[in-house]
Amino acid sequence: MVKTPDELALMRQSGQLLAAVFTMLDRQPLAGLSTMAVNDLVERYITLDLAARPASKGQYGFQYVLNCSINHVVCHGVPDADTIIRDGDIINLDITLEKNGFIADSSKTYLVGDVAPAARRLVRVTQEALWQGIAQVRPGAHLGDIGFAIERHAKRNGYSVVRDYCGHGIGREMHEDPQVLHFGRPGTGLPLREGMVFTVEPMLNQGSRKVSTQDDGWTVTTNDGKLSAQFEHTVAVTRTGVEVLTLRPDETPLSARRV
Ligand code: MN
Repeated sequence: MVKTPDELALMRQSGQLLAAVFTMLDRQPLAGLSTMAVNDLVERYITLDLAARPASKGQYGFQYVLNCSINHVVCHGVPDADTIIRDGDIINLDITLEKNGFIADSSKTYLVGDVAPAARRLVRVTQEALWQGIAQVRPGAHLGDIGFAIERHAKRNGYSVVRDYCGHGIGREMHEDPQVLHFGRPGTGLPLREGMVFTVEPMLNQGSRKVSTQDDGWTVTTNDGKLSAQFEHTVAVTRTGVEVLTLRPDETPLSARRV
C-alpha cells in the first residue's frame, strides 16, 4: 500500500500523462459527438500521442478506455455510437492510464455548452467537495477525515453523497487497498502514512443518494432521475501533506488554495 520514492516518481509520470488527456479534452467541443467518438479520440491520444496504455480497456471485461456518465448517470456509463452528447449536458469522463507499470485514475465532469444554473452549481460543489477531501490528506490524518469533509460540504449545499462507490488505493493495480469512503467520521478509519497512493472520487447527487445499476451491468443511474456529478484525482501522502498526482495545469494546487 505504501510506495517507494522510485515508485512514486513513476506514478507521478502516469498522473501527468493522464492530466494531459484532460487538457486535450478541454480543447475539444463535445456537443454533437457520440460518446463512442470521445472514447476513440481518447484511445488514440493515449496510445499514439502519449505511448501509454488505457488501463480500463480489458479490465473486468470492459471494452473501452473511459466511462462517460451523462446527467442522471452517476458513473460507469459505457461509450456508445448512438449516445450523442448534447448542448446543456453535464458529462463525467473517467479515464485511467498506465505507463511503466503504474496506473493513474482521474475524472472530470464537463459542462457542455449552455448548462442550466442548477446543474452548474452541482458540478462546482462536487469539485469543491473533492478538494475539501484532498485537503484532509496528510500523515497521521484518518480516512474518515476525508469522507467527513466531503459529505459535510455536500450536505451544506443541499446535495447527497453516493455511498455505493468509493475511492481506492492504486498503483500497479487499478484497485488496491484501502477503500476510501466519501462519508465518515473524523478521526476514524485507517491512519494515513507517507507514500500511500489512492483516489478520492466523490459522486454528489441533486436528490437522493440512492442509485441502481442498469441492465447492461455497467451504467449506474440515480433512482430519482436527478443529476449526479463526480470528480476524481489520484493523490499521494507526502511527508508533510498531499501531492495530487493527476493535477491539471488549469487547477490550483492545494498549497495555493483556500479550502
Ligand atoms: Mn477510481
